[in-house]
Formats: sequence, structure tokens, C-alpha cells
Amino acid sequence: MSYAGPEFEPSRPPRSRRPMTVALAALLPGALLGWLVYEAVRGPGDGSGGAAAVSPSPSRPATTGSPTPGSSPDGKRPSAAPSSSASVSAGASVPAGSGSLRGKVVVIDPGHNPNNFRHASDINRKVNIGTGWKECDTTGTSTNAGYIEAKFTLDVARRMRTLLEQQGATVKFTQDGDRPYGPCVDERARIGNTARADAVVSIHADGSAAGNRGFHVILPGGVHAGAADTRAVVGPSRDLGERIAGRFLHATDTPPSNYVGRGTGLVTRRDLGGLNLSTVPKVFIECGNMRDSADAAQLTSGAWRQKAARGISEGIVSFLRG
Ligand code: ZN
Repeated sequence: MSYAGPEFEPSRPPRSRRPMTVALAALLPGALLGWLVYEAVRGPGDGSGGAAAVSPSPSRPATTGSPTPGSSPDGKRPSAAPSSSASVSAGASVPAGSGSLRGKVVVIDPGHNPNNFRHASDINRKVNIGTGWKECDTTGTSTNAGYIEAKFTLDVARRMRTLLEQQGATVKFTQDGDRPYGPCVDERARIGNTARADAVVSIHADGSAAGNRGFHVILPGGVHAGAADTRAVVGPSRDLGERIAGRFLHATDTPPSNYVGRGTGLVTRRDLGGLNLSTVPKVFIECGNMRDSADAAQLTSGAWRQKAARGISEGIVSFLRG
């Protein structure tokens, strides 16, 4: 995601170097815990080609129930985060038991729009997000070589649609590259609400500094202001997000963000209209950092995007099955 444009991320507070403490370990929900377990299980020399044999069983950790303060990243790397292999195995198998999602509605929100670049005045128009006013939409970021986030998000979303429809889910998009720009963030939220979606996932890739790597899932914080009232969906959205983070980690064999979320892969925010205005369970996922060359190598790989789509989809399926 890029909130201010393709080149910039919102300013973040200076990194603090906090010692790893037991208290911090207690905060680790989902992703990192899953990563540590996964690393322990697969052992040395077991490349990602064997990842398909590992049952994606991210733990449902006992969380403290307190939201992750995503606005105060500490920049600490996960202690077990290895340099991830970019090797991939193509293809994704659809689990047995197909059709079990019949009647379930999933809204996928491919972040940004490939045509936003041509509609600056339209996407810069301010819309109300409950807590204030924000741009209708942004262009998103891109890799240094010019692969734009909006194409990435559409590609992953379409792969997810195939996987979820194979299991009987009804899948709706907020945009499918079929409109001149946007939609605006408030409309993106409304589409999920109107569809009475059982789960909504907004797909993004980040535009942070080189060296910042890994994915993170963004959860809605508790917001009750103006048209925004997330209080009923904070809990289920966290459940959805934890499951997605865990499955994404296993499917892609890549560690959680080393620059936000304290290594958990989870960040809570209250400044995103797409989350603030949602009345159904919804999360964002930043699949990687397009401005880091190692992450970019993954994000530009179709085989890796298939893994990403599979991981996110498996998290949704897990959530829908309860
Ligand atoms: Zn984005």
C-alpha cells in the first residue's frame, strides 16, 4: 500500500531497540509463532519445495486480546527469521471437501487501480472515513523496475477468486480493472457491507524502504466516530487476520514483516477508511515490500503470487469454517 503515492509511506516514529522480553513473546499471535513452529518442524535443509507437505496448521494462539499497536513499530527482526528462499513450486492444490463454502460470500478488494495514475483529481478527492477525511484512493506503489502494485493486487485477487470459487464460495470484487479509477475507499468498504460479506480481504503490497521485508496483515482498531463503528467487527477481523497471517506464512515460506508488527505479522490501524467503514469482518494484507529487491523478486513471480493467493485463501477458508 502506498498512502501518499508510489514513493512514500506514512512517516513512522523512530525505531526503538527494545530487548526481547517474555512479555513480548506473550504478545506474539499467529504468524511469528507459526513461523517458529514451522521452522522447528521442517528442520534444516528442507527447502520450500517441501512446503506443500507441511500441513498448514497455524496455531490459534492465546492472545492477550489487546490490539497490536501497529503505529509504533519497533523495527525488531523476528529472532528466527531466516533469509527466505525465493524458490517456489508451481501450482496449488485445492483441498478435498470442495463445495463446503456454498452460501459464503467473500469480497476481495484489489488495492488501488491500474488506471488511478490517469485520474489524479478524482482519486485525490476527499471522502469521509468516520474519523476524518482522506483521499478517495491512491495510486499505490511499484517495484523499482516498474511493476505496479495495482497489477499485483489484481493478479493475486484473481488467483484467490479461482481458489475460493472452487470451494463453492461466492466471490465479489470491489474492482476488476474494469473501471476508470478507484473505487474510493468508502465505496470499497460499502461494497463489502452491501454484499453482507462473511469476510473481506484487501490486497496490497507495501512501498517501504529497501531492507524492510516481509508481509503484514492490518487489522481494524476499535473506531466509533461519525459513520465508522468497527466495534462489532474488531474481534472477528482479528480472528480472520490471524488465520490469514498463519496460512500466508506457511504457503509462501516467508517471514513476517521485519519493520512493523514486532515480528507478529499483525498491525492494528485506525486510519484506513476501508477498515473504519466496514461493518463486516475485514483485514488488509501487505504481501511484501515492493521497494526491497528481495521482496520484489518474489512479488514479481507468478509462482510466488500463486502461493500468496493460496495462503490468503486458506486463511479465509479457515475463518469461514470456524
Ligand atoms: Zn496499497
